[in-house]
Amino acid sequence: MQVFKFGGASVKNAEAVRNVTTVLNMYKRQPLVVVISAMGKSTNALEAIHHSIITNDGKLDSHIETFNKFHDEIIDELFQLDRPWLKEHISNLFKEVKALSGKEFTGNPDQLYDHVVSIGELSSTLIIDNHLKCSGVNSIWVDARTLVKTDSNYKEGRIDWEETERLMKAQLMPNVSENSVIITQGFIGSDSNNTTTTLGREGSDYSAAIFAYCLNADNMTIWKDVPGVLNADPRKYSNAVKLDEVSYTEAIELAYYGASVIHPRTIQPLQRKNIKMWVNSFVNPKATGTLISQDATTNTNIPSYINQNGQWLITIATRDFSFIVEEHLSQIFDLFSKHKVKIDIMQNSAIYFTVAVHNLEWRLLALIDDLKEIFNVKYNTDAELITIRHYNDSIIKELVTDRVVYMEQKTRETYRVLLGEKED
Ligand code: ASP
Ligand code: MG
Repeated sequence: MQVFKFGGASVKNAEAVRNVTTVLNMYKRQPLVVVISAMGKSTNALEAIHHSIITNDGKLDSHIETFNKFHDEIIDELFQLDRPWLKEHISNLFKEVKALSGKEFTGNPDQLYDHVVSIGELSSTLIIDNHLKCSGVNSIWVDARTLVKTDSNYKEGRIDWEETERLMKAQLMPNVSENSVIITQGFIGSDSNNTTTTLGREGSDYSAAIFAYCLNADNMTIWKDVPGVLNADPRKYSNAVKLDEVSYTEAIELAYYGASVIHPRTIQPLQRKNIKMWVNSFVNPKATGTLISQDATTNTNIPSYINQNGQWLITIATRDFSFIVEEHLSQIFDLFSKHKVKIDIMQNSAIYFTVAVHNLEWRLLALIDDLKEIFNVKYNTDAELITIRHYNDSIIKELVTDRVVYMEQKTRETYRVLLGEKED
């Protein structure tokens, strides 16, 4: 059997949903579990709803109305006959949320968050399930919360693998066949009290990997609006190319350096059972995408570029400009960890310890205040961190021309440089 995943962009409007239905019609005679995200940017809209409840800002009802209108319009466009019951079903998902309107919220905000944002995935899958049925696909809608079990760490639920695998094998496996397509939600699960949890933003790829792992899938496919995994951001590099094959390790490396393609936590469950993963284009579903697997051969002749803008460069020195030694480093790392600031690149010299981090303004300012209690600290805010896997010297030369190099690091396969603009 196979697991498919469709993200928010692939179901962002009626036309996109029709396209998903077309793709699934191509595969409907194969055992298939399909994991789907919330439509377009609706998770952000649900975050606004959550915010309105917490702050009691009086905007809750209008936010809910906007969410419902967005989905109702998609329903109207998709179906010839009116579907009042489908609209009502979605609107009823807000029953408990609406009861909080105009009241001061006293519960656990993170638990509320998971309840609210799960409505996005529930709504999208209800609509797509209906549309598939109309197109002649025998789809079965499954509530992922009955299968994906987590601890009660709301917003970042950690998977209870044993229980999830047991439930999926016992309850889902018997329904997986050539005769039907299972439609379920990414991103959401539930804890041991059956309270809704989520797996963290952008968690749907991970959900698909969980299904693939527990059901011993032959492979998993993530359907995207790009032809596959590209070697660079096509918005920045007009000559970006598709990588035909990427090994699990290379995918993890790319993700570590900031490529948004695939999260390492998505790869890990697949790697444990050696399940192949495809990244395919939903725009061009017959084209061959990128294969990610254990024995994929990464083409090291194609350099991969990862650009991270808006980096802050922070330079730390001791007050008396004595050497930076282990004791200082340990104080510095403690503060970074306390403020939950992840270091993207670092370097030390005799008297300076220099790092670059991505812009999290308020958190960074608080961190810098704390550092200043002990150290001399300087920072500037507009650097760009560029990582190149499988670099060569001519690429580097071109890259750094006319720019200021703040920091540079090279290993055999990876070149990293932190750049700023030259002042004239
Ligand atoms: N809908 C969730 C989000 O936007 C999960 C996902 O799409 O992966 O973060
Ligand atoms: Mg099937």
